[in-house]
Amino acid sequence: MGTLNPVLFSADSTISEPRILRKSVQPANVAPRPFLIAGPCSAETPVQFELTLNGLLPLAPDLIRAGIWKPRTRPNRFEGVGEEGLRWVREMTRERNLLLAIEVAQPSQAEAALKFGVDVVWIGARTTVNPFLVDELGKVLAGSPLPVMVKNPINPDLELWLGAVERLEALGLHEIALVHRGFSPFERSPYRNMPQWEIPIELRRRRPDLPMYCDPSHITGDARLVPEFAQIALDLCYDGWMLEVHHDPAHAWSDSDQQLTPAQLADTLNGLKFRKIDMDDPSEIIGLRELRQEVDYLDDELLNLLARRLELSHQLGELKKNFDLPILQPRRWEQILNTRTSAGQAIGLDASFLIKWLQLMHQESIRRQLEVYRPDSVKAL
Ligand code: PEP
Ligand code: MN
Repeated sequence: MGTLNPVLFSADSTISEPRILRKSVQPANVAPRPFLIAGPCSAETPVQFELTLNGLLPLAPDLIRAGIWKPRTRPNRFEGVGEEGLRWVREMTRERNLLLAIEVAQPSQAEAALKFGVDVVWIGARTTVNPFLVDELGKVLAGSPLPVMVKNPINPDLELWLGAVERLEALGLHEIALVHRGFSPFERSPYRNMPQWEIPIELRRRRPDLPMYCDPSHITGDARLVPEFAQIALDLCYDGWMLEVHHDPAHAWSDSDQQLTPAQLADTLNGLKFRKIDMDDPSEIIGLRELRQEVDYLDDELLNLLARRLELSHQLGELKKNFDLPILQPRRWEQILNTRTSAGQAIGLDASFLIKWLQLMHQESIRRQLEVYRPDSVKAL
């Protein structure tokens, strides 16, 4: 492990200059890579934490994560070592020149984070959902230069996620990063939390200034899938990963299925494919420019078709109104859904994509027809 970048700790470092997040501080023997946050789901005992840290040291993580208070879904499970554990977690990371991040979910925990001099805090998925709590945490942290990572809320609500960031910013906290840990599925699902990549992608579009890290451990809930998701995060241009690592995952006191051993983390990092070419300069890739031109052309065609298609909806609305027919024709809608889904599948389109697209178009078609029926009252629909 190399020495820490002195810039991070200079006495006059200002709050508005990023001190820690996004600054991957890697020694010369580690290949350049995005920001790496690694560590156990929970700090359990000094021995467990020390063994895990020693396993991680050669991998030079940029930040160590450790859960001190654990927000468990059900009661009567291990709920964290609490403030006493924070003492040895802080000591052991400091002895090894490692930066430390912990989760804070209550004002008293944020106070403890400041008291023990942790380097970064994060707000967990169960806390981001609650604007009151986010405000309370922000008030405790305000005035400190502590960077804050904000995990996505449990439910797939981009505005709530962004709202939490804005609350912290309004209180003067400016070193903020986002952590995408997936969204709680309502139905049986292949992953512990559904990634719904479109949400972090849209949030990045709106706030390109905020680093976005991916947490494949909590998305997948399964250590065997973590390497694949770490690669997806790279391919989707995330700024780094938060990964749960435990020296003996099978005996972990929380999230035992999803934690990697330090050796598995090393294998994961070694197996990653880094995509280096700057996609904004396509001159380097033969054929890319042509393919993009074709995509542009087809998108243009699609837009024209869509406009024509929805113009027909408007005409249908006028016809139905003249003949006093109801707007919604359930049998016709059923038939459209079935015929288009099977026709689309027959030419290689994904069924769930087709259903989403048809529903969206139907919704817009109904809105347009309502506009014909009730021109003054449908603006808000
Ligand atoms: C955690 O990071 O251990 C954790 C509890 O995460 P989340 O808030 O994403 O569930
Ligand atoms: Mn966990």
